[in-house]
Amino acid sequence: MQCHPRRGQGRLWIVSLGPGAADYLTPRAAEALRQAQVVVGYKTYLDLIEPLLHGKTVLASGMRKEIERCRKAVERALKGDGVALVSGGDAGIYGMAGLVFDVCQSLGVAVCDGLAQGDDAGEALPIEVIPGVAAFNAAASLLGAPLMHDFASISLSDHLTPWTVIEKRLMAAAEADFVIALYNPRSASRPDVLDRARSVLLRYRSGETPVGVVHRAMRAGQRHWVTTLKDLVGSNVDMQTVILVGNSQTYLWSGWMITPRGYLQKYTL
Ligand code: SAH
Repeated sequence: MQCHPRRGQGRLWIVSLGPGAADYLTPRAAEALRQAQVVVGYKTYLDLIEPLLHGKTVLASGMRKEIERCRKAVERALKGDGVALVSGGDAGIYGMAGLVFDVCQSLGVAVCDGLAQGDDAGEALPIEVIPGVAAFNAAASLLGAPLMHDFASISLSDHLTPWTVIEKRLMAAAEADFVIALYNPRSASRPDVLDRARSVLLRYRSGETPVGVVHRAMRAGQRHWVTTLKDLVGSNVDMQTVILVGNSQTYLWSGWMITPRGYLQKYTL
């Protein structure tokens, strides 16, 4: 869609920050942060990019304030500012991108594609979604190559999704032999979700299935290890952990976790 922003009108970048360290931030994301006058985000994420925030208006808020952050970002952009709304990992994966569109739609704010700008005057707010390295692919790189075949990502958070839906998706993904990335594996109010998920997966998958656990990927305090589905213990994980459960073909070799794509079954070396 062509974008015809009003002259002098602000714009909104939805900026993916990647998993943590600045060298996993894309140049496009860094450029949007450089151009923005206002940066809006969750305090913990803003702390990670502190050196990029000098001279900017920074609007930080806490966890569970997602709607407020979105509204603030949209309001400032409509007033004429260049606004970067930051989100960890990839903003479009359990992140802020979808909420921005939900909020704009609910408020009746006309938006357009910030990458496809024309010169004519118009009324719409240009939005650009900048992709980033998500926790699941950062984690996969630390573990080896566990996502070489089809995979599914399932969040164990029942804050916005009922457990019955989560359980149904776990069963479907396990039965279809997807490699499974498990997000949000624990919180203080839900200490047992990983143990519950493991019981569901064990109905379909061997207890010997390799599992990679990655804590704080590409952040200070990073740790990762491999275990098996039967030995996966919920008490060893927290909310900064992502877990990759192998499929029936996944194997461990020299400390790496690998899911074969099938080349060596089809071709000889
Ligand atoms: N948009 C993010 C996901 C946000 S949901 C992305 O693209 O990855 C938050 C969950 O993501 C956490 O509970 C955890 O499961 C996972 N996560 C985010 N960053 C992580 C990191 N650096 N290391 C391990 N897990 C991470």
